[in-house]
Amino acid sequence: MPRTISLLSRQAPLASAEHQRATLTALPLAREFGDAAQAAGAWPLRPHAIATLQINVGKLCNQTCRHCHVDAGPDRQEMMSRETMALCLRALASTTIPAVDITGGAPELNPHFRWLVEQATAMGRHVMDRCNLTVLTTAGQADLPEFFARHRVEVVASLPHYRATNTDRQRGDGVYEKSIAALKRLNEAGYGDGRSRLRLVLVTNPVGAYLPPSQASLEAEWKRELLRLHGVAFDALYCITNMPISRYLEWLIESDNLAAYMERLVTAFNPSTVSGLMCRDTLSVGWDGLLYDCDFNQMLDLGVDAASARHIRDFDPAALATRSIVVGRHCFGCTAGAGSSCGGSLAS
Ligand code: SF4
Ligand code: SF4
Repeated sequence: MPRTISLLSRQAPLASAEHQRATLTALPLAREFGDAAQAAGAWPLRPHAIATLQINVGKLCNQTCRHCHVDAGPDRQEMMSRETMALCLRALASTTIPAVDITGGAPELNPHFRWLVEQATAMGRHVMDRCNLTVLTTAGQADLPEFFARHRVEVVASLPHYRATNTDRQRGDGVYEKSIAALKRLNEAGYGDGRSRLRLVLVTNPVGAYLPPSQASLEAEWKRELLRLHGVAFDALYCITNMPISRYLEWLIESDNLAAYMERLVTAFNPSTVSGLMCRDTLSVGWDGLLYDCDFNQMLDLGVDAASARHIRDFDPAALATRSIVVGRHCFGCTAGAGSSCGGSLAS
């Protein structure tokens, strides 16, 4: 059963990004990420054109999952203001960045979330919402499926497993039942039927200290089982590797799995994943407007290496295009096995 409050509220040392980075740095690893990237012919790691603006609108969440890399929860207050959202929209308007990926916490709990979606879709951008599903069952959110459908939002929903036990073990008692109810509501609104072009993606990550299995084979199994068990349909399954940061890092330490897990990630480094790393075509904005190469770097307080463009108010595509991506040992989580990103596996 997950803890009920965040690292921050517990005043746990791992609430500090610096402490997390130091914990990873202290491990006796066989190689550094930069050496691995260099051997793969991709050093320094440079960005391609920005294809996705990923906006993290805050750490407030109705859940407190054990593996959360954001240290989100009902006790977190950090929230993007409408003014900062307006700066994100201004940046979007100055570019042709085609996609906006809204994440949190539970992004829908930000009071300006729907406004942001409306503005971004009115600009013709494809909007994705990282949804934990149970938020649809919270006060005032029951109409979210219809809101999403109206704005043709792609719903990228997290569900650890198609069975109850594994899901509730990672996310808390009763989460599975609520998640299935939310999926049925999304199906009713036209999501996942393959005809309405309302895309519903499920995201799964391992419950323990291992790498995700093959995405393609799991997707077929999940589609079959969710349909059989609950009559639920969806379009695609993304398998994501757990990153050794925040509450998952705490769990690795407490379960004495950290050294072995990191070794597993390093050993499984796959050079063919480097070209598709999400940091190469995504720019991540924190709740306070600071810019990062990805959501993971955001949680580790590793801002972009572009002195003149560290905040969305100073958004400068030219300066950002020439930056080097900031990496660390956590990056092995993106390159292990089939690779991992917000869009699932990177290699087959
Ligand atoms: S993993 Fe997602 S749903 Fe769970 S606490 Fe973190 S942000 Fe919330
Ligand atoms: S953690 Fe971020 S910076 Fe590191 S490889 Fe993954 S996406 Fe890139």
